[in-house]
Amino acid sequence: MRLLEDKLRAIGEVDLNRPLGTMTTYRIGGIAKYTVYPKDMLGLAECMRLLNEEKVPYKVIGKGSNLLCSDDPYDGVVVRLDRFFIDTYFEDDKVVCEAGASLIALSYECMKRGLSGLEFASGIPGTVGGAVFMNAGAYKSSMSEVIEEVLVLRDGRFDWVKNEECGFAYRSSVFQEHPEWLIVGVRLQLEKSDVDSIRSLIEERRARRMATQPLDYPSCGSVFRNPEGGFAWKYIDELGYRGKTVGGAKVSEKHSNFIINVDHAKASDVMSLIDSINHDMEERYGFVLKLEMEKFNWPNSKK
Ligand SMILES: Cc1cc2nc3c(=O)[nH]c(=O)nc-3n(C[C@H](O)[C@H](O)[C@H](O)COP(=O)(O)OP(=O)(O)OC[C@H]3O[C@@H](n4cnc5c(N)ncnc54)[C@H](O)[C@@H]3O)c2cc1C
Repeated sequence: MRLLEDKLRAIGEVDLNRPLGTMTTYRIGGIAKYTVYPKDMLGLAECMRLLNEEKVPYKVIGKGSNLLCSDDPYDGVVVRLDRFFIDTYFEDDKVVCEAGASLIALSYECMKRGLSGLEFASGIPGTVGGAVFMNAGAYKSSMSEVIEEVLVLRDGRFDWVKNEECGFAYRSSVFQEHPEWLIVGVRLQLEKSDVDSIRSLIEERRARRMATQPLDYPSCGSVFRNPEGGFAWKYIDELGYRGKTVGGAKVSEKHSNFIINVDHAKASDVMSLIDSINHDMEERYGFVLKLEMEKFNWPNSKK
Protein backbone atom coordinates (compact mmCIF):
# COMPACT_ATOMS: atom_id res chain seq x y z
CA MET A 1 0.00 0.00 0.00
CA ARG A 2 1.38 3.36 -1.03
CA LEU A 3 1.66 5.94 1.69
CA LEU A 4 -0.89 8.74 1.69
CA GLU A 5 1.97 11.18 1.14
CA ASP A 6 2.95 9.51 -2.17
CA LYS A 7 -0.64 9.45 -3.33
CA LEU A 8 -1.05 13.13 -2.55
CA ARG A 9 2.20 13.96 -4.34
CA ALA A 10 0.80 12.35 -7.49
CA ILE A 11 -2.07 14.86 -7.38
CA GLY A 12 -0.37 18.11 -6.47
CA GLU A 13 2.23 19.82 -4.34
CA VAL A 14 2.48 18.67 -0.75
CA ASP A 15 3.87 20.23 2.42
CA LEU A 16 4.51 18.03 5.44
CA ASN A 17 4.13 19.16 9.04
CA ARG A 18 3.32 22.76 8.28
CA PRO A 19 2.04 24.98 11.12
CA LEU A 20 -1.55 26.12 10.59
CA GLY A 21 -0.30 29.45 11.90
CA THR A 22 1.41 29.96 8.53
CA MET A 23 -1.90 29.42 6.73
CA THR A 24 -4.11 31.74 8.76
CA THR A 25 -4.26 35.51 9.14
CA TYR A 26 -4.36 34.99 12.92
CA ARG A 27 -0.87 33.41 12.76
CA ILE A 28 -2.14 30.84 15.25
CA GLY A 29 -2.55 27.07 15.06
CA GLY A 30 -0.83 23.71 15.57
CA ILE A 31 0.98 21.63 12.97
CA ALA A 32 -0.97 20.11 10.08
CA LYS A 33 0.38 16.74 9.01
CA TYR A 34 -0.29 17.22 5.26
CA THR A 35 -1.11 20.24 3.12
CA VAL A 36 -1.94 19.57 -0.51
CA TYR A 37 -2.26 21.97 -3.45
CA PRO A 38 -4.05 20.01 -6.20
CA LYS A 39 -2.75 21.08 -9.61
CA ASP A 40 -5.88 20.99 -11.73
CA MET A 41 -9.55 19.94 -11.83
CA LEU A 42 -8.73 16.28 -12.40
CA GLY A 43 -6.21 16.31 -9.56
CA LEU A 44 -8.76 17.98 -7.33
CA ALA A 45 -11.43 15.38 -8.15
CA GLU A 46 -8.87 12.62 -7.49
CA CYS A 47 -7.79 14.23 -4.26
CA MET A 48 -11.32 14.39 -2.89
CA ARG A 49 -12.04 10.82 -4.07
CA LEU A 50 -8.91 9.58 -2.31
CA LEU A 51 -9.64 11.41 0.95
CA ASN A 52 -13.23 10.22 1.00
CA GLU A 53 -12.42 6.62 0.07
CA GLU A 54 -9.65 6.35 2.63
CA LYS A 55 -11.73 8.26 5.20
CA VAL A 56 -8.91 10.71 5.84
CA PRO A 57 -10.00 13.83 7.73
CA TYR A 58 -9.51 16.96 5.65
CA LYS A 59 -10.19 20.68 5.68
CA VAL A 60 -10.26 23.15 2.81
CA ILE A 61 -8.52 26.36 3.78
CA GLY A 62 -8.62 29.48 1.63
CA LYS A 63 -6.50 32.25 3.14
CA GLY A 64 -7.48 31.15 6.65
CA SER A 65 -8.82 34.64 7.31
CA ASN A 66 -11.87 33.46 9.20
CA LEU A 67 -10.34 30.63 11.19
CA LEU A 68 -9.19 30.18 14.75
CA CYS A 69 -7.22 26.93 14.66
CA SER A 70 -6.46 25.25 17.97
CA ASP A 71 -2.88 24.85 19.16
CA ASP A 72 -3.19 21.05 18.72
CA PRO A 73 -1.62 19.12 15.86
CA TYR A 74 -4.02 18.35 12.98
CA ASP A 75 -3.69 14.73 11.91
CA GLY A 76 -5.37 15.23 8.55
CA VAL A 77 -5.02 16.93 5.18
CA VAL A 78 -5.40 20.63 4.51
CA VAL A 79 -6.58 21.16 0.92
CA ARG A 80 -5.63 24.50 -0.59
CA LEU A 81 -6.68 26.06 -3.89
CA ASP A 82 -4.83 29.36 -3.65
CA ARG A 83 -1.82 28.17 -5.67
CA PHE A 84 -3.32 26.51 -8.77
CA PHE A 85 -6.98 27.60 -8.80
CA ILE A 86 -6.53 31.33 -9.24
CA ASP A 87 -7.55 32.06 -12.83
CA THR A 88 -10.18 34.61 -13.79
CA TYR A 89 -11.92 34.98 -17.15
CA PHE A 90 -13.76 38.15 -18.07
CA GLU A 91 -16.56 38.28 -20.58
CA ASP A 92 -18.39 41.54 -21.00
CA ASP A 93 -19.95 42.28 -17.58
CA LYS A 94 -19.47 38.77 -16.20
CA VAL A 95 -16.46 37.16 -14.60
CA VAL A 96 -15.75 33.49 -14.05
CA CYS A 97 -13.19 32.99 -11.34
CA GLU A 98 -11.51 30.05 -9.66
CA ALA A 99 -12.09 29.61 -5.95
CA GLY A 100 -8.50 30.06 -4.82
CA ALA A 101 -8.19 33.57 -6.25
CA SER A 102 -7.75 36.45 -3.86
CA LEU A 103 -10.97 38.42 -3.38
CA ILE A 104 -9.04 41.66 -2.94
CA ALA A 105 -7.06 41.12 -6.16
CA LEU A 106 -10.29 40.27 -8.00
CA SER A 107 -12.01 43.43 -6.72
CA TYR A 108 -9.12 45.58 -7.98
CA GLU A 109 -9.04 43.81 -11.35
CA CYS A 110 -12.78 44.44 -11.73
CA MET A 111 -12.20 48.10 -10.90
CA LYS A 112 -9.52 48.39 -13.62
CA ARG A 113 -11.95 46.93 -16.12
CA GLY A 114 -14.74 49.32 -15.10
CA LEU A 115 -16.86 46.59 -13.52
CA SER A 116 -18.80 47.58 -10.45
CA GLY A 117 -20.25 45.28 -7.76
CA LEU A 118 -17.21 44.08 -5.80
CA GLU A 119 -16.21 47.40 -4.23
CA PHE A 120 -17.46 46.15 -0.83
CA ALA A 121 -15.06 43.18 -1.09
CA SER A 122 -11.89 45.11 -1.78
CA GLY A 123 -10.74 44.89 1.86
CA ILE A 124 -11.82 41.32 2.67
CA PRO A 125 -8.61 39.29 2.86
CA GLY A 126 -9.89 35.85 1.81
CA THR A 127 -10.23 33.74 -1.31
CA VAL A 128 -13.23 33.78 -3.58
CA GLY A 129 -14.18 30.27 -2.33
CA GLY A 130 -14.03 31.33 1.32
CA ALA A 131 -16.11 34.41 0.51
CA VAL A 132 -18.80 32.29 -1.14
CA PHE A 133 -18.81 29.86 1.78
CA MET A 134 -19.22 32.74 4.25
CA ASN A 135 -21.35 34.95 2.02
CA ALA A 136 -18.77 37.55 3.00
CA GLY A 137 -19.92 41.12 3.00
CA ALA A 138 -19.47 44.67 4.15
CA TYR A 139 -21.23 48.01 3.88
CA LYS A 140 -24.63 46.30 3.54
CA SER A 141 -23.52 44.35 0.46
CA SER A 142 -22.51 40.72 0.22
CA MET A 143 -21.31 38.10 -2.24
CA SER A 144 -24.84 36.81 -2.80
CA GLU A 145 -25.70 40.03 -4.67
CA VAL A 146 -23.13 39.44 -7.40
CA ILE A 147 -23.10 35.64 -7.66
CA GLU A 148 -24.89 34.11 -10.61
CA GLU A 149 -23.77 30.54 -9.96
CA VAL A 150 -21.16 28.53 -8.10
CA LEU A 151 -19.15 25.60 -9.47
CA VAL A 152 -19.17 22.86 -6.85
CA LEU A 153 -17.43 19.49 -6.63
CA ARG A 154 -19.85 17.18 -4.82
CA ASP A 155 -20.34 13.43 -4.86
CA GLY A 156 -17.52 13.18 -7.41
CA ARG A 157 -19.21 15.53 -9.93
CA PHE A 158 -18.75 19.15 -10.90
CA ASP A 159 -22.10 20.98 -10.80
CA TRP A 160 -23.03 24.61 -11.39
CA VAL A 161 -25.31 25.60 -8.51
CA LYS A 162 -27.58 28.60 -9.14
CA ASN A 163 -27.60 31.50 -6.69
CA GLU A 164 -31.16 30.67 -5.54
CA GLU A 165 -29.99 27.20 -4.50
CA CYS A 166 -27.09 28.50 -2.41
CA GLY A 167 -29.22 29.39 0.63
CA PHE A 168 -27.48 32.72 1.10
CA ALA A 169 -28.27 34.73 4.23
CA TYR A 170 -26.28 37.00 6.57
CA ARG A 171 -22.77 35.43 6.63
CA SER A 172 -24.19 32.05 5.79
CA SER A 173 -24.77 29.72 2.86
CA VAL A 174 -25.81 26.16 2.08
CA PHE A 175 -22.08 25.31 1.84
CA GLN A 176 -21.77 25.63 5.62
CA GLU A 177 -24.22 22.72 5.93
CA HIS A 178 -22.17 20.69 3.44
CA PRO A 179 -18.49 20.85 4.40
CA GLU A 180 -17.96 17.88 2.04
CA TRP A 181 -18.80 20.07 -0.98
CA LEU A 182 -15.90 21.91 -2.52
CA ILE A 183 -16.36 25.34 -4.08
CA VAL A 184 -14.26 25.33 -7.26
CA GLY A 185 -15.29 28.53 -8.97
CA VAL A 186 -17.93 31.15 -9.35
CA ARG A 187 -19.62 33.16 -12.07
CA LEU A 188 -20.33 36.76 -11.08
CA GLN A 189 -22.66 39.24 -12.71
CA LEU A 190 -21.26 42.76 -12.41
CA GLU A 191 -22.25 46.14 -13.82
CA LYS A 192 -20.35 48.29 -16.23
CA SER A 193 -19.41 51.55 -14.62
CA ASP A 194 -16.81 54.27 -14.56
CA VAL A 195 -13.33 53.30 -13.33
CA ASP A 196 -12.82 56.55 -11.39
CA SER A 197 -16.05 56.28 -9.44
CA ILE A 198 -15.31 52.63 -8.54
CA ARG A 199 -11.78 53.63 -7.50
CA SER A 200 -12.96 56.47 -5.29
CA LEU A 201 -15.50 54.22 -3.52
CA ILE A 202 -12.79 51.59 -2.92
CA GLU A 203 -10.40 54.23 -1.61
CA GLU A 204 -12.98 55.76 0.66
CA ARG A 205 -13.71 52.35 2.15
CA ARG A 206 -10.07 51.50 2.48
CA ALA A 207 -9.55 54.70 4.47
CA ARG A 208 -12.53 53.81 6.66
CA ARG A 209 -11.12 50.34 7.37
CA MET A 210 -7.67 51.75 8.14
CA ALA A 211 -9.23 54.22 10.57
CA THR A 212 -11.51 51.75 12.36
CA GLN A 213 -9.81 48.32 12.23
CA PRO A 214 -6.55 47.16 13.85
CA LEU A 215 -5.03 46.04 10.56
CA ASP A 216 -1.48 46.21 11.87
CA TYR A 217 -2.01 43.08 14.00
CA PRO A 218 -2.90 39.50 13.02
CA SER A 219 -6.61 38.75 13.48
CA CYS A 220 -9.50 37.04 11.78
CA GLY A 221 -11.65 40.16 11.47
CA SER A 222 -14.84 40.34 13.51
CA VAL A 223 -14.98 37.64 16.14
CA PHE A 224 -18.72 37.75 16.82
CA ARG A 225 -21.76 38.17 14.58
CA ASN A 226 -23.89 41.18 15.28
CA PRO A 227 -26.94 40.05 17.22
CA GLU A 228 -30.41 40.92 15.89
CA GLY A 229 -30.88 44.69 16.12
CA GLY A 230 -27.52 45.41 17.80
CA PHE A 231 -23.75 45.54 17.44
CA ALA A 232 -21.41 43.00 19.02
CA TRP A 233 -18.75 45.67 19.65
CA LYS A 234 -21.18 47.74 21.73
CA TYR A 235 -21.98 44.85 24.05
CA ILE A 236 -18.26 44.05 24.39
CA ASP A 237 -17.59 47.69 25.26
CA GLU A 238 -20.41 47.83 27.78
CA LEU A 239 -18.92 44.77 29.50
CA GLY A 240 -15.61 46.63 29.78
CA TYR A 241 -13.55 44.35 27.55
CA ARG A 242 -11.98 46.92 25.23
CA GLY A 243 -8.22 46.58 25.67
CA LYS A 244 -8.44 43.44 27.87
CA THR A 245 -5.56 41.01 27.42
CA VAL A 246 -5.06 37.29 28.03
CA GLY A 247 -1.56 35.99 27.24
CA GLY A 248 -0.71 37.31 23.78
CA ALA A 249 -4.32 38.04 22.78
CA LYS A 250 -6.05 41.37 23.24
CA VAL A 251 -9.47 42.87 22.62
CA SER A 252 -8.50 45.64 20.23
CA GLU A 253 -8.64 49.20 21.56
CA LYS A 254 -9.50 50.32 18.04
CA HIS A 255 -12.41 47.93 17.40
CA SER A 256 -13.66 45.82 20.28
CA ASN A 257 -15.11 43.09 18.05
CA PHE A 258 -11.55 42.28 16.94
CA ILE A 259 -9.40 40.10 19.20
CA ILE A 260 -5.86 40.61 17.98
CA ASN A 261 -2.70 38.57 18.28
CA VAL A 262 -0.34 41.08 19.86
CA ASP A 263 2.41 38.78 21.06
CA HIS A 264 2.60 35.15 19.94
CA ALA A 265 -0.91 34.46 21.20
CA LYS A 266 -2.04 30.89 21.70
CA ALA A 267 -5.42 29.84 20.40
CA SER A 268 -6.30 29.19 24.03
CA ASP A 269 -5.61 32.87 24.88
CA VAL A 270 -8.13 33.99 22.24
CA MET A 271 -10.66 31.39 23.39
CA SER A 272 -10.32 32.41 26.97
CA LEU A 273 -11.27 36.01 26.04
CA ILE A 274 -14.20 34.74 23.96
CA ASP A 275 -15.45 32.49 26.76
CA SER A 276 -15.08 35.22 29.31
CA ILE A 277 -17.00 37.74 27.16
CA ASN A 278 -19.81 35.25 26.63
CA HIS A 279 -19.89 34.29 30.30
CA ASP A 280 -20.45 37.97 31.16
CA MET A 281 -22.90 38.41 28.25
CA GLU A 282 -25.05 35.60 29.62
CA GLU A 283 -24.97 37.02 33.14
CA ARG A 284 -25.77 40.58 32.12
CA TYR A 285 -27.97 40.24 29.04
CA GLY A 286 -29.23 36.65 29.22
CA PHE A 287 -27.83 35.63 25.82
CA VAL A 288 -24.46 34.92 24.24
CA LEU A 289 -22.86 36.26 21.07
CA LYS A 290 -22.49 33.86 18.17
CA LEU A 291 -19.09 33.45 16.57
CA GLU A 292 -18.56 34.91 13.11
CA MET A 293 -15.13 33.32 12.82
CA GLU A 294 -14.88 29.55 12.74
CA LYS A 295 -13.09 27.32 15.18
CA PHE A 296 -11.10 24.59 13.52
CA ASN A 297 -9.46 21.50 15.03
CA TRP A 298 -10.90 21.92 18.50
CA PRO A 299 -12.38 18.99 20.36
CA ASN A 300 -16.16 19.08 19.65
CA SER A 301 -15.62 22.29 17.71
CA LYS A 302 -18.88 24.17 17.43
CA LYS A 303 -19.60 27.64 16.05
C1 LIG B 1 -8.66 42.05 8.77
C2 LIG B 1 -9.87 41.24 8.37
C3 LIG B 1 -11.00 41.88 7.92
C4 LIG B 1 -12.14 41.13 7.55
N1 LIG B 1 -13.23 41.80 7.09
C5 LIG B 1 -14.32 41.10 6.71
C6 LIG B 1 -15.48 41.76 6.21
O1 LIG B 1 -15.53 42.99 6.07
N2 LIG B 1 -16.54 41.00 5.84
C7 LIG B 1 -16.53 39.64 5.95
O2 LIG B 1 -17.53 39.00 5.59
N3 LIG B 1 -15.44 38.98 6.43
C8 LIG B 1 -14.35 39.67 6.80
N4 LIG B 1 -13.26 39.01 7.28
C9 LIG B 1 -13.29 37.53 7.47
C10 LIG B 1 -12.79 36.70 6.26
O3 LIG B 1 -11.88 37.46 5.48
C11 LIG B 1 -13.94 36.23 5.38
O4 LIG B 1 -14.83 35.41 6.10
C12 LIG B 1 -13.43 35.46 4.14
O5 LIG B 1 -14.52 35.27 3.27
C13 LIG B 1 -12.82 34.09 4.47
O6 LIG B 1 -12.18 33.61 3.29
P1 LIG B 1 -10.96 32.61 3.35
O7 LIG B 1 -10.61 32.23 1.97
O8 LIG B 1 -9.86 33.17 4.16
O9 LIG B 1 -11.63 31.39 4.08
P2 LIG B 1 -11.03 30.48 5.28
O10 LIG B 1 -10.92 31.34 6.48
O11 LIG B 1 -9.80 29.81 4.81
O12 LIG B 1 -12.17 29.44 5.43
C14 LIG B 1 -13.44 29.84 5.93
C15 LIG B 1 -14.41 28.67 5.70
O13 LIG B 1 -14.64 28.54 4.30
C16 LIG B 1 -14.37 27.21 3.89
N5 LIG B 1 -13.83 27.26 2.53
C17 LIG B 1 -12.83 28.06 2.09
N6 LIG B 1 -12.62 27.84 0.77
C18 LIG B 1 -13.49 26.88 0.40
C19 LIG B 1 -13.77 26.21 -0.82
N7 LIG B 1 -13.08 26.48 -1.94
N8 LIG B 1 -14.74 25.27 -0.84
C20 LIG B 1 -15.44 24.97 0.28
N9 LIG B 1 -15.23 25.57 1.46
C21 LIG B 1 -14.27 26.51 1.53
C22 LIG B 1 -13.35 26.68 4.89
O14 LIG B 1 -13.35 25.27 4.97
C23 LIG B 1 -13.86 27.33 6.17
O15 LIG B 1 -14.90 26.56 6.71
C24 LIG B 1 -12.11 39.72 7.64
C25 LIG B 1 -10.95 39.07 8.10
C26 LIG B 1 -9.83 39.82 8.46
C27 LIG B 1 -8.59 39.11 8.91
